[in-house]
Amino acid sequence: MRACVEKVLVIGGGFSGMSAAIELSKKGIAVDLVEIDKDWRTDGAGISIGGATIRAFAQIGILDEFLAQGATHKGLDVHAPTGQHLAFIPAPPLMGKDAPGGGAIMRPVLAKILAAKTRETNVNVRLGITFEQINDRGDSIEVSFTDGTSDSYDLVIGADGLNSSVRRAVFPEAEGPAYIGQGVWRAVLPRLPEIDNVTMWVGPHIKAGVNPMSADEMYMFVTENRETNGRIDSATYMEKLKALLAGFPAPMVQKLAVMLDEDSLIHYRPLEGMLMPGPWYKNRVLLIGDTVHATTPHLASGACIGIEDAIVIADELARTDTLDEALAGFQTRRFERCRMVVENSGRLAQIEITGGDKVEHTNIMRDSAIALAQPI
Ligand SMILES: Cc1cc2nc3c(=O)[nH]c(=O)nc-3n(C[C@H](O)[C@H](O)[C@H](O)COP(=O)(O)OP(=O)(O)OC[C@H]3O[C@@H](n4cnc5c(N)ncnc54)[C@H](O)[C@@H]3O)c2cc1C
Repeated sequence: MRACVEKVLVIGGGFSGMSAAIELSKKGIAVDLVEIDKDWRTDGAGISIGGATIRAFAQIGILDEFLAQGATHKGLDVHAPTGQHLAFIPAPPLMGKDAPGGGAIMRPVLAKILAAKTRETNVNVRLGITFEQINDRGDSIEVSFTDGTSDSYDLVIGADGLNSSVRRAVFPEAEGPAYIGQGVWRAVLPRLPEIDNVTMWVGPHIKAGVNPMSADEMYMFVTENRETNGRIDSATYMEKLKALLAGFPAPMVQKLAVMLDEDSLIHYRPLEGMLMPGPWYKNRVLLIGDTVHATTPHLASGACIGIEDAIVIADELARTDTLDEALAGFQTRRFERCRMVVENSGRLAQIEITGGDKVEHTNIMRDSAIALAQPI
């Protein structure tokens, strides 16, 4: 069946935008993708990949590349700060009993895999430019670009992330992201042979952990509660991270602290979240990914729901007769699932910050995992 649109512009070449470009192009739609960064870089350490993300990778066609360049695990080992093992929470596979239930990969490696797939799928990628104006003409949409060119499209997809310029231009009344009172430290370390699963030490207010992300690397994460989201001088990163790890007497955590050095890519990021009320579209402009549902990483599912948005909009455009039907169908299929991820992640963060009810924390983790396993 022919899709109900012929030509689409995707603004933003992150995980959501690249996935949208790939999926639309596979449906026979002509896709231009503009990315503001001329070098198309992705910073950061590792990213956790849950069962639903692995399912989405299979749909996009990058599962083999992920398995070759990332790492998989069987679940999460939870410890007390002293090192006592408290629980193993399995990551159930969603794609048959032999498929992995979870994993991780270096962010720039995942971005390279998706970028290669984007180019291979005949998407017209234009780097180092962005839109200047978006003019809705009713039966089409006219976009002018910062390099002086302009073009006409049936649909524009804004996928330019948390501080989206497309959102500001098309939904000027929408509230932007808000700081949640917690930040996360991350670092890259050589993988230790004894670390097979996500391995976490949970204190009363903060948690530390490591996650294997390739055959020889793992990433570390440590949360910290801070009243404001001010910048931290990077010259103090090492001493601040080591001071936080000193609160975990577990021998393994102390071993990890000693392994930190100037090659560990230590990074601190204050956490922000937002959920834009629907609809996430206006006439011929649709927003996806972090532009409308930026989540904190407590369920490690932000990239997952952005990639799923891409799969669902391509499916709706190919399945329905009109753009209006496709956009309405997209909204119905996506809002509740994305709300669940953003709000449950936010609640988990609040429980951690206030030292709240651990039973509620466990129940939210379990219920969210069940919900994420549902078909999209
Ligand atoms: C600390 C932290 C840890 C996380 N951990 C996980 C995890 O373990 N697992 C998980 O699934 N999710 C995780 N997430 C969430 C995940 O990183 C995001 O949800 C995901 O990266 C969003 O992708 P996106 O493509 O929507 O937006 P982005 O990644 O922000 O991509 C936006 C793209 O648009 C480009 N752009 C920006 N402005 C313009 C413009 N005007 N014109 C053109 N291009 C533009 C940018 O350069 C970028 O390439 C985490 C988030 C944080 C903050």
